[in-house]
This record gives sequence, C-alpha cells and structure tokens, in this order.
Amino acid sequence: MFNLEKIVRINILNLKPYATARDEFKGNDGIFFDANENPFGVLNRYPDPGQKALKKKLSEQRNVDSENIFIGNGSDEAIDLAYRIFCEPGYDKALTFSPTYGMYDMAACINNIELMKVPFNHMFQINRENLEKHINDPRLKLIFICSPNNPSGNVINDADIEFILRNFKGLVFIDEAYIEFSDSPSWLGKISLFANLLVSQTFSKAYGLASARIGVAYSSPEIISLFNKVKPPYNVSLLNQEAALDALSNTLVFEANKKTILREKKKLRASLKKINMIKKIYPSDSNFLLVETTDANKTYDELVKRKIITRNRHMCVENCIRITVGTPEENRKLIAEFKKLAG
Ligand SMILES: *Cc1c(COP(=O)(O)O)cnc(C)c1O
Repeated sequence: MFNLEKIVRINILNLKPYATARDEFKGNDGIFFDANENPFGVLNRYPDPGQKALKKKLSEQRNVDSENIFIGNGSDEAIDLAYRIFCEPGYDKALTFSPTYGMYDMAACINNIELMKVPFNHMFQINRENLEKHINDPRLKLIFICSPNNPSGNVINDADIEFILRNFKGLVFIDEAYIEFSDSPSWLGKISLFANLLVSQTFSKAYGLASARIGVAYSSPEIISLFNKVKPPYNVSLLNQEAALDALSNTLVFEANKKTILREKKKLRASLKKINMIKKIYPSDSNFLLVETTDANKTYDELVKRKIITRNRHMCVENCIRITVGTPEENRKLIAEFKKLAG
C-alpha cells in the first residue's frame, strides 16, 4: 500500500528543518534582538513563518487541523514543492491529463522531471485505459488532477479520481482552484481517508486575492510537514496573510460576489449562444467559459482590437477561447463587441 517514505526523495527525507529566530523563541512578549531586523518601521519584523493565525481560521472554517494545512506563495508554490519533494530530477516522472493548467508542465521542466500527459476524452474526462498503462510505473511519483479543470471548466468524475487514489502508490495532487464555483464537494473531506491525497486551493479566484499570492494545500500531517520543511521560511508576507484572514472574515462579501459571478455566467452563456460565430460553449463548474468559435485566432485578434481581452486556447483546444466571467458591466461590453463582430 501507500508508503510515504518510499516516494519521498532521500535528501528531503533526511533534511533538518531550518530553525528561524521565531522558531527558537516563540513568544510575543519581550524586546527582540534576535533576527537582525530594523527596530524602526511598520513592516520591519519578519512575518510568522508558520502562518498560525491564518491556519487557525482556515481550520475552523474547513473543519481540519492546522497540521493538515500548508500555506504557499500561491498554489504555484505547492505545485513546485510537490516536484521537489517527491521527484528525483532526471529520473522520476509525473503525470497529468491534457489539456490542463500549464504550470504543471512549467514546474516539471524547471525541476527536470518528465511530465506525461494523458489526453482527456472528448468530454474532458479521464480515459482509464490510457492511464492504466502508466499507473504502476515505479518512477511515477506524482499525478496532477485539475478539478474543475482549466481550460475546459468541468469537474472530473469522482469515480475516476477514487480509482486513482486507490490504485496509485504516489501522491495524488488535486488542484481545486475553482472549487468554490462548483456544486460538487471538495475532496478536502477525504484527506483522512486517503493517505496519498493532497488537495490544493487558492485565494486567487473565488476569494478575489490573486495579487496577494496565497495558495493552500491540505493533506496528512506527514505530507504537510514535508512541504513546511522545504518551503522558504518566510514564503508568505504579513500583508498577504492579513489579506487572506480578512477575506475569510468577510463571508457576506465572498458569498455575494460568488453569487453575482455565477448569475453572470448563466447570462453570459445565454447571450453567447445567440452569436452565430460561436459553435459551442462547454459546460462549466468554474468562473469561466470555454467557447468554440469558427476561427479562434481571428476572433481573439478582433476582440483585442476592440479592447476585449480573452484567452486564446486554440493551441490546446481547437478554435477555442476562454472567457472569464466579469462584472455585469464588463460582460455587457463583451457581448456588445461580440455582436458587432458577428455583424
Ligand atoms: C488560477 C489557477 C491556480 C491559481 O494559482 P495561484 O498560484 O494560487 O494564483 C491554480 N491552479 C489552476 C488550475 C488555476 O487555473
């Protein structure tokens, strides 16, 4: 079965965590001469490397222990650390499904890890037959599943994820960057059931804090302690920790904005449907729509000329652009320009 020590790189397993000044003396009371900080100023002190206040708030809201939580400088940090903890450069492999989020590939390249890309079927769901060829490869240490998937927008079927969790001996990294927009439950509730499960979420999308760079990973205390050991000690600034705490406290704002985005998504879909150059709009469990047009390159360029910036995804899904749901006003402009374009 799953044996964590077998899939962690030896140098990481043997690594002694760095002890910061704040690890050596944990209290608040005293005059601090221990971290070579400047005694003057407002942002003069190092932030809490354990991000305790933010973890406490998250643990209350998510019903997990602080020991199950890793806070990263965006989820991109958790993705990079997963490679660095589990995959020996130039030797081990990772796997994901395509098309999906580009950072799995970027981080694999930077870490000199081969990332295998198993194509999704035409519904952007996992093709088990193609996966089964790889799942027992002893060098395969990491599988990334993006659900809801970017750029397609759909949630990945539970049964396929459960199959992977039960049959794969390495780490299963479920990237739930868009989960708050979905009706499907998070896999977060299952971290105590599957020892090889890590669930990654972010403050960049539904919480509206993309510029603050806060990503969260949930997993067993053993896996989380590896992430904490490998991260740079002060990876999340004080300002960002406070911004995330504020966002978690403002539940009314969070719910209201989410509701508006979901309502606007429905309206956007209905309006786009009527435009004749749009051939297909894929189902979406997220805050964006993947839209097939008659000619994505041309549509993209023409929209840019009209100051409407979408994401051209033609290179990963033929003739598709990805449209993020904006404010009601922004969406009205998008539709107006689209209509002019279509003539
Ligand atoms: C936007 C996005 C993220 C967010 O990354 P951050 O580093 O937390 O901003 C993560 N995964 C996917 C699939 C995304 O689309």
